[in-house]
Amino acid sequence: MKCPFCGYTESKVIDSRPAEDGEKIRRRRECLKCEKRFTTYEIIETTPLMVIKKDKSREAFDRNKLLSGLLRACEKRPVAMNTLEQVVDDIQIALQNSLEKEVPSQRIGELAMEKLKGVDEVAYVRFASVYRQFKDINSFMAELKLILESKAN
Ligand SMILES: [Zn+2]
Repeated sequence: MKCPFCGYTESKVIDSRPAEDGEKIRRRRECLKCEKRFTTYEIIETTPLMVIKKDKSREAFDRNKLLSGLLRACEKRPVAMNTLEQVVDDIQIALQNSLEKEVPSQRIGELAMEKLKGVDEVAYVRFASVYRQFKDINSFMAELKLILESKAN
């Protein structure tokens, strides 16, 4: 979202609420460069986003499906439901903002892994192991090693 004052493209959202008609979201933003504030209205996308599955078949994007996948990965982990819903929101917004009508399921998986990494490492490894379908214990250990190394740094 371009700043109307200086044209800078990065801004942060400081307030977000539904507009009067309930079909738009009104966001107060602050430009990360000039720090001036402006308002944007975001229209909720009503065209369903289609997911291209591995076998090339299509199905409508289902946020509950994504959420339940994340919940499974976070079983018995100290992760709040709110956090996972936020993760799903972020992924959905990222997909809708990409303006693609069809998204490969792989991309959703990658986005989810990326987000989970910052939420809970155990959940991340669980999700990745299901998602990447590690062929053997070695490829699983290799992934785990990468995580531990990045943590040590
Ligand atoms: Zn600005």
